[in-house]
Amino acid sequence: MNKKSREEIKLMCMAGNIVALVHQEMKRVIEPGISTLELDKIAHDIIKKNKAIPTFLGYCGFPNTICASVNEQVVHGIPSKDVILKEGDIISVDVGATYRGLVGDSAWTYAVGKIAPEVQNLMDITQKALFAGIEQMIPENPLENVSAAIEDVAKEGRVGIVRQYGGHGVGREMHEEPFLFNYRTNSRVIIKRNCAIAIEPMLNLGCDEVHQLDDGWTVVTDDKKPSAHFEHTVIATDDGPLITTRVQ
Ligand code: MG
Ligand code: MG
Repeated sequence: MNKKSREEIKLMCMAGNIVALVHQEMKRVIEPGISTLELDKIAHDIIKKNKAIPTFLGYCGFPNTICASVNEQVVHGIPSKDVILKEGDIISVDVGATYRGLVGDSAWTYAVGKIAPEVQNLMDITQKALFAGIEQMIPENPLENVSAAIEDVAKEGRVGIVRQYGGHGVGREMHEEPFLFNYRTNSRVIIKRNCAIAIEPMLNLGCDEVHQLDDGWTVVTDDKKPSAHFEHTVIATDDGPLITTRVQ
């Protein structure tokens, strides 16, 4: 778990700000009729205009700037001109920006027009789980507290917890140590002062189980029920959890 210097924290906030600007725009433009490839282009342009690098583009061969995961797609959906959003869909947009060598990573699930109440409830629970986890990002706290907070909100909301994927350290690389589980594991990792972690609950309306499609990327729920994903990059400072992926 890498502690970040004051300069690195500043740059992570600048990277995070760019990611937040992308999400601000996603919120504005997502509506029935837009394709996920159009969203990808909008995100790419914002990141470039702010002199940053789209972190996901080319990462392990990923072909785009954003992951665009619709409905039963959990994470790592590949943007396509053929995926046109329609009323009642939800879409999880995950995006990373690297600014002067430091990374911001954040995901958000958006409603497309009017959605079913149980799907809105899933989104609300997942967002609540994210912020419950963030509250525990305090120096010297067990990292397990973050996992437990997420698990408790998910259990209370009676939704499925994706177990194969989770949060991660972040900084000069998008994925650094440690891995953060979204449920209790008896981990003994302690949160270090000024370390950065991307906290990202992925919760399902139905069962926990997911699998990857033949495209080698897209992860979907086994029961084809919707999944939500909310993520912020957070630094554990003496002044409390610092969310870098917010508009500063
Ligand atoms: Mg992400
Ligand atoms: Mg992440």
